[in-house]
Amino acid sequence: MSTIDQDPRRAIHVLLELTRGLAERRSLEAALHEVTQALLALVPADHASVRLLDANSRDLLCGARAGVGIEHRPVRFAPGDGVLGWCVANDEPVLVADARSDPRFASILGQGFDVRSIMVEPLRAGGRVIGVLSASHAKVGVFNEEDQLLCRLLANCSVPSIERARLERLALTDDTTLAFNVRYLFPRLEQELHRARERVSPLSVLLMDLDHFKSVNDAHTHAAGDRVLREFADSVRGCVRRADVLVRRGGEEFLLIMPDAAEGAAAATAERVRQRLAERPLTLLGGVSHRQTVSIGVATWDGHESAEALERRADLAMYAAKHAGRDQVMVSGRHPPVTEPPGRSSLLP
Ligand code: GH3
Ligand code: MG
Ligand code: MG
Repeated sequence: MSTIDQDPRRAIHVLLELTRGLAERRSLEAALHEVTQALLALVPADHASVRLLDANSRDLLCGARAGVGIEHRPVRFAPGDGVLGWCVANDEPVLVADARSDPRFASILGQGFDVRSIMVEPLRAGGRVIGVLSASHAKVGVFNEEDQLLCRLLANCSVPSIERARLERLALTDDTTLAFNVRYLFPRLEQELHRARERVSPLSVLLMDLDHFKSVNDAHTHAAGDRVLREFADSVRGCVRRADVLVRRGGEEFLLIMPDAAEGAAAATAERVRQRLAERPLTLLGGVSHRQTVSIGVATWDGHESAEALERRADLAMYAAKHAGRDQVMVSGRHPPVTEPPGRSSLLP
């Protein structure tokens, strides 16, 4: 039975709270989190999620999840994949009583929670689908038509706030790698330094520069180079914490902001990123195998320096790694002093 039947006052209260919260200017994550929490409160679901299409409409990226199984990494869906992807591709809501007997359902290993009942609503803005709101439960036949209407109501009233926050986020996201772009770098780094100062906690950054990347474009194609950039970003995301922030500083250079990470933990992460990339050859278009390496500089905030000074130390450590032969990690202050190499072409404005 849906909340609206059981306790209409509570349902109204949940919706009032949500619309009030969304009217305030919140971050995209905060807005999406509130929407999933409200959905869990309104319908008898054990898991709720919001997914948004990326800038290229290639992936349905997980924006927020609530309920069971959120300790597992979210599974990736493209438009057309599974019930969520079907909803996007067909621009139609879905209500499934038993996922096991629905051919659209893609059973996913490692998802971390069971799905038998599932309902999905498209999120529409500007006349097109921008994502989906979904709720599921491990038991069969849990949702009724009222639940579906509540889900739709939630989707409709949250979409303007979600779309505003999504467009703001797109302006700060790099389309190729889905990392943040350089416009985001210093405001966020300064915000994190402020937090670190207040909490008296450490903060480190990794500056990662792909080795001999120019030759990838030259030997293959620019499109193959783009693919390597995307795979590199995926590889980094696969071995860092959720709190770490990946920024594409420009070209083939990335900065990872690591809140609460002291030097040892940051250096260990850098080594993990380096090893993972070195050990797994990438498959380029046409099945060509490509081994890409990365040079990484690690710098830990000294408690006083500016964001620019911290980034500069990471940069110098990265150059020390290049000087030492590439495919390695150097920690700021633990390498011989290096001067900036001649002819360095800065990709920063
Ligand atoms: P090093 O090991 O010294 O870092 O050598 P490198 O070749 O990686 O460095 P260099 O700075 O000489 O070249 C960087 C190359 O990155 C040049 C440019 O063609 C390429 N690049 C920059 N942005 C993009 C992009 O968005 N896509 C692709 N495919 N290539 C890019
Ligand atoms: Mg390079
Ligand atoms: Mg470079």
